[in-house]
Amino acid sequence: MPLPTRAALDVVPAYRQGRSAPAGASKLSSNESPHSPLPSVVDAVRERLDAINRYPDMSAAVLRDDLAARYEVDPALVTVGAGSVEIAAQLIHAVAGEGDEVMFAWRSFEAYPSLVRIAGATPIAVPLNAEHAHDLDAMLAAITPRTRLIFVCNPNNPTGTVVGVDALERFVAAVPHDVLVVIDEAYVHFDRTASYGAGIRLFRRHPHVAVLHTFSKAYGLAGLRIGYAIAPAEIAESQRKVAVPFGVTDLAQTAARASLAAEDELAGRIDEVVAQRDRMLAILTEAGWPAVASQANFVWVPAGERTAQLEAQLHDGGVIARAFPGEGIRISSGSAEDIDRVEAALSAVDAGSDLTDRKEATV
Ligand code: PMP
Repeated sequence: MPLPTRAALDVVPAYRQGRSAPAGASKLSSNESPHSPLPSVVDAVRERLDAINRYPDMSAAVLRDDLAARYEVDPALVTVGAGSVEIAAQLIHAVAGEGDEVMFAWRSFEAYPSLVRIAGATPIAVPLNAEHAHDLDAMLAAITPRTRLIFVCNPNNPTGTVVGVDALERFVAAVPHDVLVVIDEAYVHFDRTASYGAGIRLFRRHPHVAVLHTFSKAYGLAGLRIGYAIAPAEIAESQRKVAVPFGVTDLAQTAARASLAAEDELAGRIDEVVAQRDRMLAILTEAGWPAVASQANFVWVPAGERTAQLEAQLHDGGVIARAFPGEGIRISSGSAEDIDRVEAALSAVDAGSDLTDRKEATV
């Protein structure tokens, strides 16, 4: 007889990683940085390698001090985790359990519903609007006395849309103060609109806001697993209770500090990723696909029933993207060569396909 497991887990799908790419293909399925790590970051990590017989500083005190100084907040409000996904889990566990509700837009970051269920709470998914953006009014209307936390993923994964600053401010002000609003800014560095940095500004003005950032995307440290939150004191305190002890390695903390010190150099790389993202959007649009303008490091193509076709075309051209069957495809930005490949893959097919037909099928 199989051992009994928690009933809540029966409906939790295992997290699906972006497809791995065959050798030589462009892996644009996981929103990673296309750049290899900065030499200064590699050097800093290398210097710490002979200390890996020791446990890391569990409180990540030095890194948290760096972050606190940078945002001019009390270090006690900064929490660090093994990727921002771990921090998202901490935040949920800090405020929600059996009988509580955690809200997010849908489609959004795939881990939200699972993390909520794992905590024993109930996920409330509020559909995105027709522009593939958060429907903040619908989210406000969906708040109940059981709502404990609301994620606003800004820019949103996988659609790349952002919520305007004013709309976000109105939303936060309208959410009851006993509900934590978590502004997940995993992709904020790629945002070229006025909502860049809105999370921290809202954190300063409202007592029920937390901001989530990661070193995985713009800083290119996805493989080392480190992210952080800036949260109200009582939330940060509870996060420390639910965190897995020693979850963040010394190498990750070291790399994060070195990356903060190298931000000027990283800024040029981020600009390149943004330029290639915009170029990819133009290429997709030109090819007749209904690509959505993005402020993240990826582009969403709500291709509907043509999703499999687009995925196959890209695949044949050596591009691995993230397909959501029947809904659309998310293609991460990459190097100029990666986006050249996207262009070639689409034009190879355009030559033999009926564009008019395609446009009709995707409105
Ligand atoms: N938030 C969002 C919106 C994401 O898309 C991701 C990564 N896909 C994460 C958080 C987690 O990233 P990480 O754990 O690597 O920091």
